Amino acid sequence: MMANVDLALRGYFHPAAIQQHPWNFETCTRLRHLIQHIGNVDARAEVDEIFEHMSEIVIPRLQSLRHQVIHQDAHTDNILVDPDDATRITGLIDFGDLLYGTLVAEIAVACDSIPYGSPDMVPAAAEIVASFDSVLALEEQEVDLVFDLVCARNAMTATIAAARLALTPEQPVHIQSPLTFVDRLRELQRVGRADFTQHLRTACRFPVTCPNSANEALSDDEEARLVEARRSLLGRNTTHFYERPMHFERARGPWLFSTDGHRYLDCYNNVPQVGHCHPHVVRAIARQAAALNTNTRYLYSSALEYADRLTSKLAPHLSACIFVNSGSEANDVAWQMAKLITGNTGALIMEDAYHGVTDVIRQFSPGRPETPLPAFLKGLIVPDPYRGPFRENDPELLQKYAADANRAIAELDASGHGTAAFMIDSALCSSGVPDVPDGYMQAIEKKIRAAGGLMICDEVQSGFGRMGQWWGHEHHGVRADIVTMGKPVGNGHPLGVVVTTQEILNRFMDKTRLFSTFGGNTVACAAGNAVLDVIEQENLIERSRTVGDYLRSEIAQLASKHALIGNVRGHGMLTGLEFVTDRAERSPATSETARLLELMRQECVLVGSEGRDANILKLRPSLVFERDHVDVFVDALERSLDAL
Ligand code: PMP
Repeated sequence: MMANVDLALRGYFHPAAIQQHPWNFETCTRLRHLIQHIGNVDARAEVDEIFEHMSEIVIPRLQSLRHQVIHQDAHTDNILVDPDDATRITGLIDFGDLLYGTLVAEIAVACDSIPYGSPDMVPAAAEIVASFDSVLALEEQEVDLVFDLVCARNAMTATIAAARLALTPEQPVHIQSPLTFVDRLRELQRVGRADFTQHLRTACRFPVTCPNSANEALSDDEEARLVEARRSLLGRNTTHFYERPMHFERARGPWLFSTDGHRYLDCYNNVPQVGHCHPHVVRAIARQAAALNTNTRYLYSSALEYADRLTSKLAPHLSACIFVNSGSEANDVAWQMAKLITGNTGALIMEDAYHGVTDVIRQFSPGRPETPLPAFLKGLIVPDPYRGPFRENDPELLQKYAADANRAIAELDASGHGTAAFMIDSALCSSGVPDVPDGYMQAIEKKIRAAGGLMICDEVQSGFGRMGQWWGHEHHGVRADIVTMGKPVGNGHPLGVVVTTQEILNRFMDKTRLFSTFGGNTVACAAGNAVLDVIEQENLIERSRTVGDYLRSEIAQLASKHALIGNVRGHGMLTGLEFVTDRAERSPATSETARLLELMRQECVLVGSEGRDANILKLRPSLVFERDHVDVFVDALERSLDAL
């Protein structure tokens, strides 16, 4: 009911509503001089502590929250109900405390009626908050202050009751004994802010609270309980990063906030391309979800707007899309297309490629060069001029690496598969982001085309500005027949896209009529459109180039002091940093790299390792990274290298 009253009062104002009366939460510390009337010394101290907390912490926060005219006295004594049906509210009385105040105060007052002293106390408060929220959506900060306001309300009532008893004993008493409210305060303190607030947050489906400081960190026991639950519910082999798994509950821009009370600079995760929880993307998702969430079998403009905008970022021949849910699915569809269009059934990949998890695409993902491949797949030697078989000072480097495709194509022909496609991650991420020799991809493309195959450019890692331009295949100067996208497309909202020519798409659809229920749904398209907005508006492609170059130049400077740094390479916001124990031999510093990951974690910086010897740091921070963030990373790296 109170949410409806407050909705009705929205926009209403009268100068008389600026009331400084004693029940105003924001001026409650003025009651402090009356605390002396509370007889019991301990109780007095407890009440004073609440006023102190209000003054130092809560009131300053309230000031930035929503204000309007509110009733501010809706406890059960002021609510009228149907005598025949006590659950039916028929009226609200006593407008004497009505004032212009913080909206959430309405809830704190309504909590006067929760059954203190019973196990239902917290659930009842949660119910009040949730039912208010269902009519008038609460903000997270408001919910987080309810506990303090309920405490303050009891402290205020105890003080006012004690003062009235002492100063105006002749007046009729309509408030219970002051100590009743001190008892209530004690009960609230027994439950504690964290537990109480967690119940309210859950009732409104706000995520779990994230501690603001190490003092409030989640206990080791609680973390251990989660690890155990994860093992039993998600399987014992569900992997996690780091020896001791990280637990995050909040993120913003390049930062992740952990339940240990620290913030971590995220230099690893490439899904939040435009920064974690970018408000524009978050709002677009929420607004579309609130309006309509349905699939591409219906006509709606956002999918068409998105397809049009996305294809306009690619070469003109790439003008048609299929929406799916992930990078794996996009590659699966691309592979089906390649077989259908070429009539061949074999493919080339990098020998340590990763392309996803569907039944067939798992086979395109050997991860390591020695993994046996099925006969229809041939792995190419990774063109790595730093530690590959042919190195940067070899004048025939490019030809030697490219020649491996002749072998692979001949083998596919010999086995009767022929060449349907070369599926290539333009970033060569799973190979450790090698510095692919200029012209290598073009040389392979030529051979593929001569063999009748298509170029499937997997842009799951390299797309959307990661390499300092829109697409990684553009960096390599090749013409893609099919482009697959995943990960950053929706900045975390699931969306995969296959972009190809009209002809390929139409021939494929004639045959398959492929439809993905969630692929390209209205909410996913809203996310996709919002990601494009941010990349354009914040000039992130340009920033990816300049900040990425700065990152590599800063690391290169460190190399003069730290012999472990063997090689730094990359483009835009994709960097490979290779560690060696001996620069001449280029021997991989595998154990040192593993240790460095842990040391960097202690420095509150997240990185990951890559490559067959796990001696390469793969750095893929979001494109909103600035030079200041690079400095934080480089300082942490330097200290970690010193500590090795
Ligand atoms: N291709 C590449 C290059 C990838 O890196 C990945 C995921 N890491 C995928 C495809 C698969 O994407 P998803 O996990 O969304 O299925």
